[in-house]
Amino acid sequence: MKPTKLLIGLLVFALQLPASADTAKRPTGIKLRLANPKKVTPSGHVLTTPKSTIVVDPGADPKVGIRKLSTDAKNISAIVLTHEHLDHLGALPTLVRHGFKGKIYGTSAALDAAKLMLWDGAKIQRSNAKRQRARLRKEGKPCDHIHAAYNKPDVEQTISQFRPVEPGKITAISPDTTVRFELTGHVLGAASALLDVGTGAQERKILFSGDLGRANDELHAPPKTFGKVDYVVQEYTYGGRPAQGPKPRPMAQLNNAHKLAKKKGGRVVIAAFALGRTQTLLFMERQLRLQKPDNDFPVYLDTPLGEKLTQLYKTYPNYLSRRIRRFTAKHGDAFSFPQLHVVASGEESKGLATFLEQGVVIAGGGMATGGRVVGHLKQSLPNPNDVVVLAGYAAPGTLAQQLQSGLKEVKIYGKTVPVNATVMSINGLSGHRSHQELVQWAKANGEGAKIIPNHGNGRNRQAFVKALEAEGLEVLLPRGDVMELN
Ligand SMILES: [Zn+2]
Repeated sequence: MKPTKLLIGLLVFALQLPASADTAKRPTGIKLRLANPKKVTPSGHVLTTPKSTIVVDPGADPKVGIRKLSTDAKNISAIVLTHEHLDHLGALPTLVRHGFKGKIYGTSAALDAAKLMLWDGAKIQRSNAKRQRARLRKEGKPCDHIHAAYNKPDVEQTISQFRPVEPGKITAISPDTTVRFELTGHVLGAASALLDVGTGAQERKILFSGDLGRANDELHAPPKTFGKVDYVVQEYTYGGRPAQGPKPRPMAQLNNAHKLAKKKGGRVVIAAFALGRTQTLLFMERQLRLQKPDNDFPVYLDTPLGEKLTQLYKTYPNYLSRRIRRFTAKHGDAFSFPQLHVVASGEESKGLATFLEQGVVIAGGGMATGGRVVGHLKQSLPNPNDVVVLAGYAAPGTLAQQLQSGLKEVKIYGKTVPVNATVMSINGLSGHRSHQELVQWAKANGEGAKIIPNHGNGRNRQAFVKALEAEGLEVLLPRGDVMELN
């Protein structure tokens, strides 16, 4: 028997059970399958209710998305997106291609940003497939079976199924489920999603935190609380890792990079994620120029996706922090200034990498595994006058992580490149809550509920759970793949 048939059979059986005198103890028929409770990425949860199947954040690798979700795309009633990072939506086009015809819910800002991320993802998929085919052809091996996991028509169809929901509004998404979003301050439009399933004694409120931003984020509006809920599926990316050392001062660090490059007559190359980090860096550059009007260092924005996302940030002022809104009211555009130049074409980017002597380049590719920053690093790393700035999390094995660890030689496009430039890291720009802030959020949203830690490093889970329990909060750890939410 197929697992889906078995599940439906079990649900029918559960619904046919005679009513118990204690209705509160009757099974609700709500089941939750978490993607990776002990890993940070990718996401993708399946909530089965008596009348529907809801998928939250289908972010699994697009090629294995369906297998990982363990559900038939045709059976999914609705999809809920907390935000637009690819590890939360990367499998969307694959699900659509395999027959998902329902609606995809998220905040309007998150869905607009998701469109840009998906178009960019399709482009990357296409060029990766092309490169792989060329390599196989060169080796005399068959290559016709290599295709992009999804393409333009898949993205177009996916986007046509988007349904924006404003934060705070309650919307029915299936016969027995509603959703309500509230912003989390993680990236533009990112929100926690409260799924309210069933009615009366069978009603259960299940809150999916999504990725949680800093308590007082520079860019994004602060999070709101939800009131009483039954279950909280909470991310713990930095959970169990209390902060150590002095408080980082990112503006001072960026200013130091400017000073050093000016003194040496070199340039600053910053590896930046297009979403969130690029806008934070632009806002920092803008403030540095306000503090020191004689700072004439040009800034080149060399990330087409980052540029498009920056324009989107400007169209959603209500989703931004009070700080940004106040700044804009007083000084005008928070992300633009006369010394800012947008690099449009790939040719221009190559020219800039070869000929720029002084200035700042904010280039796409936060971990330097791809994107335009790689071309700039190839030119700048051998140059002792240049300053290379890493502005985000670098996963093990990435070029950014190799540079962070102080390697004196790295490989770029198969060639050995000496590291003579000064390599700096800017700390304190994370879009994720610290351990302490995660505990605060749990206290504000999880009082009287069962908290299910999810989307974090398994090695730190115990320390995070202990911190929650020390606050009198109840923690529920998943046993097996599927949990019954009674
Ligand atoms: Zn995220």
